Amino acid sequence: MFAKTFKGGVHPRDRKELSADSPTVRLEAKGDLVFLMNQHIGAPAKPLVNVGDRVLLGQKIAEAGGFVSASVCSSVSGTVKALNPHVNQSGDEALAITVGNDNEYEAVPGFGEPRDYEKMSADEIIQAVADAGITGMGGAGFPTAVKLKVKDGVKIDYVICNAAECEPYITCDYRLMLERPEDAALGMKILLKIFPGAKGIFGVEDNKPLGIASLEKVCEGSERMSVQPLKKKYPQGGERMIIYAITGRKVNSKMLPADAGCVVVNFSTLIAIADAVAKNIPLVRRVVTVTGDAVRSPSNFDVPIGICAQELADAAGGFDTDPEKIVFGGPMMGAAVYTLDIPITKSSSCILCLKNDETKNTEPTECIRCGKCLYACPEHLMPIELKNASDRLDYKKFEDLGGLECIGCGCCTYICPAKRRLSQSITMTKRYVLAEKKKGAGK
Ligand code: SF4
Ligand code: SF4
Repeated sequence: MFAKTFKGGVHPRDRKELSADSPTVRLEAKGDLVFLMNQHIGAPAKPLVNVGDRVLLGQKIAEAGGFVSASVCSSVSGTVKALNPHVNQSGDEALAITVGNDNEYEAVPGFGEPRDYEKMSADEIIQAVADAGITGMGGAGFPTAVKLKVKDGVKIDYVICNAAECEPYITCDYRLMLERPEDAALGMKILLKIFPGAKGIFGVEDNKPLGIASLEKVCEGSERMSVQPLKKKYPQGGERMIIYAITGRKVNSKMLPADAGCVVVNFSTLIAIADAVAKNIPLVRRVVTVTGDAVRSPSNFDVPIGICAQELADAAGGFDTDPEKIVFGGPMMGAAVYTLDIPITKSSSCILCLKNDETKNTEPTECIRCGKCLYACPEHLMPIELKNASDRLDYKKFEDLGGLECIGCGCCTYICPAKRRLSQSITMTKRYVLAEKKKGAGK
């Protein structure tokens, strides 16, 4: 089938060959599990346990702290050892619950028992997703139950499974396409029950022919599910980009995908939905890619949420050379970290360890007006003008130029021959403008 795409974007080397052929290996935690309360976008979760409490595998240990929030379930049985701040992947400290693993894996009653989703109403399915604490597992961490509760009168035409996995290096979704395609199809059928008029489409980049074939096999004979190959291009898996590529519909910062008749769910998240609804297993584990040229054996691990990232690096054989740069996520949108003493969260897709920090000695020079950043921007913005407005602190101009539409993809910085830090400046200014607007709204 013809591969669809969007205008703009860049073509970084994907380096997925490092870990793509490594089957997923299940790993249990040796040390304590640390559950951050802000693993998602929105209000932090509120702890439901105290130090000294015994908790069970699958037990809700923190509840959603607001409408846009998510609960947290324990990935092991054991005893609560601490409720205190812990460093997260942004380098900030956030409240966390630390559980000492008793290695018994005693689960809450009903854990893993099959459930007939066909007999459940849409509201019951959404509640099951909320109870399981499911959030977007592709990186953004938006609470999935909130995404599925569309406003009355809004008709959803497309449920899009975002299986583009366009960030270089990351292969966790790809492995799941090969290893659990039936569960992905089950997750899609469950979502199509919520949206009876919708079609379910798996959008996969065409650099994953085996993934496409695997999903086509489970969609065979279905009138409502199909696979749409997408061109390999970054950021093909951006929400707005995948919606446009598959449906031709446009979404901007003032809209939700539902306003364009779409619901978009990441591939790992779809499998988490199948586990939660049809098997009564909350989101307590995920697949994480450990890769990069510093890692001895790049791998994909199925790990409990809350495990320390250092344990994953050790399981991948450790390092040939101490990495100069460690990134949580992919090289384009991930967060550089200074320690591996960071717990894996629901949205930790990758730990990228690089021998050399290629950006460390790059000094920006004057703009040569080549226009490359304009062609690369998937939002059709003028990154150089936005950076100029940012540098002048001209927030009105920044907004007039559409700066709030920036999705922070980094294409402009990546393509710029003068090594100008375009996306970094634009993203900071956007954050500032949005924070000021929020303050103004609160007055
Ligand atoms: S970071 Fe923003 S301005 Fe730069 S290419 Fe991406 S969307 Fe465009
Ligand atoms: S890509 Fe860089 S050098 Fe070229 S126009 Fe944009 S900012 Fe200037």
